Amino acid sequence: MQGKNRVIVLALSLFFALSLCVGAAGEAPRYQVDVVVIGAGGAGMTAAIEALDAGASVIILEKMSMVGGNTVRASGGLNAAGSASQKAAGIEDSPEVMIQDTMKGGKEKNDPALVRYLAEHSAAAIDWLIAIGLDVSEVAQGAGATNARMHRGKGGAIIGSSLVQVLRENLEKRGVKVLLNAQATELIQEDGAVKGLKALYHGVPIEVRSNAVVIATGGFGANEEMFVKYRPDLAGFKTTNHKGATGDGIVMAEAVGAATVDMSEIQTNPTVEVSSTTVISESVRGKGAIMVNQEGARFVSEMQTRDVLSSAILQQTDKIAYLILDQRVMDSMKALQDNYAQGIITKGDSIETLAQTLNIDAAQLAETLATWNKAVADKKDTAFERATGMDEDLSQAPYYAIKVSPAVHHTMGGIKINPETQVVSTQGEVINGLYAAGEVTGGVHGANRLGGNAVADIEVFGRQAGQQSAAFALGMGKLEAVLPAQEEAGEAQPDVQGNFKDGEYLGEGKGNNGILQVKVTVKEGSIVSVEMVKNPETAGIFAAVEEVLIPNIIKTQRLDLDVISGATNSSNAVLEAIKAAIGK
Ligand code: ADP
Repeated sequence: MQGKNRVIVLALSLFFALSLCVGAAGEAPRYQVDVVVIGAGGAGMTAAIEALDAGASVIILEKMSMVGGNTVRASGGLNAAGSASQKAAGIEDSPEVMIQDTMKGGKEKNDPALVRYLAEHSAAAIDWLIAIGLDVSEVAQGAGATNARMHRGKGGAIIGSSLVQVLRENLEKRGVKVLLNAQATELIQEDGAVKGLKALYHGVPIEVRSNAVVIATGGFGANEEMFVKYRPDLAGFKTTNHKGATGDGIVMAEAVGAATVDMSEIQTNPTVEVSSTTVISESVRGKGAIMVNQEGARFVSEMQTRDVLSSAILQQTDKIAYLILDQRVMDSMKALQDNYAQGIITKGDSIETLAQTLNIDAAQLAETLATWNKAVADKKDTAFERATGMDEDLSQAPYYAIKVSPAVHHTMGGIKINPETQVVSTQGEVINGLYAAGEVTGGVHGANRLGGNAVADIEVFGRQAGQQSAAFALGMGKLEAVLPAQEEAGEAQPDVQGNFKDGEYLGEGKGNNGILQVKVTVKEGSIVSVEMVKNPETAGIFAAVEEVLIPNIIKTQRLDLDVISGATNSSNAVLEAIKAAIGK
């Protein structure tokens, strides 16, 4: 674990560093940089990398104890038109077609200038991501897209975790400081221009002075009070969002005069696995899955836009549906295999046994499948006129089902920006020094976001916000950076006395990819270190276990902590291994 938890900054050691740059006694500690970025999701980390590469000094504040935000959960891919990956796959596409699709999907409510910027810079975002180390070589068909343009890793790998990992590695490589547990609370405005912010760092007030601020705090899908304020009909809806998606950036921007747009445009994802609120990407349907209700019948074209699908599912028995797929679809997508390992997919050796497990009429489900397979053979879905994602039928047993229903997924409205990502005021003027990118902004997606356009949004506009904020900040005169010393992150220390027997122990647990092994050291009764001896887990998924769960075990000396969401099996494996070790 040594050295790997560099982004975990322990409060105490940093407060020593902070005290070096404190002004008069009693004032909040102050940092100073050219650009401060709020939020370490995809947009914020991208903006920080670009701002630094443009010559600015940068710091990122992240209110959670880990980076990644909602971005880490993105399961589909990144829409781009005219990319090298598309050309390599023989797919003809153009920004113009992407613009038309995005505007049509957004019911023409989108800001056309933002959509044009998005589409025209999407292929360049792919090039940039490849250059910084991300695999986006596979291209899939997304709903609402004329051409296949959803880019992701080989084998349909989930994009979010690998994107976050690559962005984080690039930040680390460049030495960009990420303050975790640092919640921005207020923007500092002087003569109309934004000159920094106030924040709570581990609950302690600090100030960051800067020439520019980039707001990249994501949406408000986890703030029920806020989404119900704009959409009373969504009261009681679950969410797929991480718990930091509370709309803070919108509130802070409004306080300095920013305009907002489309605040009531809230996307509910139609296919969210019911027990875990895991989003099941529409590319599962793109690969050929169908959707049936509790009665075993299809009820809509599965390739319809998200809003149509959400309302169709809500009209079915128990407001749920089942995605039905076969072994071919399962084999074609790594994400599905991960979901299966997570225990959220039901398997049946035949369609009839699957139906029985789901309490669906077996004859009806078998008939639905036969009718669908004939539609695929005839290339005509007379029942619902589905026209894409039907290249191959569902005939390779075993069969699988995923129980889904809609949940609040993406808040499309937010801060008003122009294509330079400058924040626009309620008077229609730009607010100097203030930039915003990603889900916190409004206008890119209009009334409905197409799958794959959120990751495109955070990359295209995240890059733009980084470049523009740096140019503005440096134009104001370069600020001499005052940053916390780049101290080696300390290993976590016990906050309480443990009750274990001193010694070094080895233990094993079963994770997603096999057996992992840990070495646990107990000194003076407390667990003082947990080292991974054997670790077959996927690095991107495991990072949070190493950076959050293990330090928390050491701090609290407890083994009954909550697992890390999105890394349930890895978390359980580590807990099991530590228990096994200490049991000895
Ligand atoms: P995007 O997709 O637009 O990048 P994400 O949800 O991935 O959005 O990331 C936004 C990040 O901003 C999250 O990690 C979230 O915890 C963080 N964040 C939200 N509000 C604040 C705040 N007030 N201060 C610091 N970080 C914040």
